Amino acid sequence: MERHRLRLPVAVAATVAAAALATFALRPRTGLIEPAAVDPQAYFSPAELERAREFRGPQRALGLAGLVVSGGILAVLALRPPRRVRRALEAAGRRPLGGGAAAGAAISVVLVAATLPLDAVGHARAVAVGLSTQGWGAWLGDVGKATAVGAVFAGAGAGGVLALVRRFPRRAWIPGSVIAVALSAGFVFLSPLVLEPLFNRFTPLPRGELRTEVLELAERAGVEVGEVFRVDASRRTTGANAYVGGLGSTKRVVLYDTLLERFPPDQVRSVVAHELGHVEGRDLLRGLAWLAIVSPAALFLAQALAERVQGRGHGGEARLPATPAALPAIALSLALVSFAVGAAGNVLSREVEARADGFALRLTEEPEAFIGLERGLSVSNVSEPDPPEAWHLLLGTHPTTVERIGFGLAFGRER
Ligand SMILES: [Zn+2]
Repeated sequence: MERHRLRLPVAVAATVAAAALATFALRPRTGLIEPAAVDPQAYFSPAELERAREFRGPQRALGLAGLVVSGGILAVLALRPPRRVRRALEAAGRRPLGGGAAAGAAISVVLVAATLPLDAVGHARAVAVGLSTQGWGAWLGDVGKATAVGAVFAGAGAGGVLALVRRFPRRAWIPGSVIAVALSAGFVFLSPLVLEPLFNRFTPLPRGELRTEVLELAERAGVEVGEVFRVDASRRTTGANAYVGGLGSTKRVVLYDTLLERFPPDQVRSVVAHELGHVEGRDLLRGLAWLAIVSPAALFLAQALAERVQGRGHGGEARLPATPAALPAIALSLALVSFAVGAAGNVLSREVEARADGFALRLTEEPEAFIGLERGLSVSNVSEPDPPEAWHLLLGTHPTTVERIGFGLAFGRER
């Protein structure tokens, strides 16, 4: 009994320690620029600042409401399941694996359906502000596809988790964390080939000035860039962006068509240089390494928490039953733990992004273009240059636009 009581506090301590260690050990040690102070009003008109604030404030509220609704549903299902739900989960339990997968898929669809009205309001607001170019039909088509993909993952995940709990009742987190890291690596590798084409068209950057320039930049940076793709982001958004995806043979730099069409060449160069910084820093591998360090403790915590939640709703048992009845408690615990651990991961992400910015500035030596790019990205994405601090600390994956303009300013002054 004593050991059971300590399981949850030990798991919390282990997770905090692992997240702190991983974030500290993997943070970039060189290449960071101390940002100069920036007054947003010097770079953005009052109308631009107002537009972003009016759009983003309510979008944040909608996002939070969505978290509360999904968390609330999982909490009710885990702690006080309505009789009909309990019966359905018990019925699913008669076919352990298939039933578990079906229940997992069903829970994920219920969560999508419950937050759909909030998402619809968010979409309508994005259309109204000119950020989204999607009509309702196309938007619903995306929701349908994403829900189907999510249900397949949730079903497979639920079946897998219950199989692990059956085989290793108290130590499912150990094989679970090995599998989670392997699956994440597989996901990064396969996503550009399997998932992303479901939603967008990717075409290799055609031969021409830009392609030559990208390859030249890559050569100067001394990195193997893989392929460079243009993606038809404009079918959904007027926002501009770029990213690095894939691993090994699927490694690629992807540039939004909105970026290529609406941003001047020197600013596109800055984006490409930033993405090359990620390739040079092996940042996708860095992310996987972070996951490998954190996930054993985090999944230990999720299991301990699920046992506690399940015990509370069902007469204090410490063991998780390997049946669909345990899925709400498991899903709720995983959601809570990944939110908390994700906030720690975002600390690393912001530093990695800051390093890629420093890399871009040193590679291009065009701080004005870099500053113009950060300004242009912020305006095109209707994002706030200086979002509320608490929000940024918890959820920000990149330095704020104000900080990024500050990198450019500091670099320009140093030269
Ligand atoms: Zn980046």
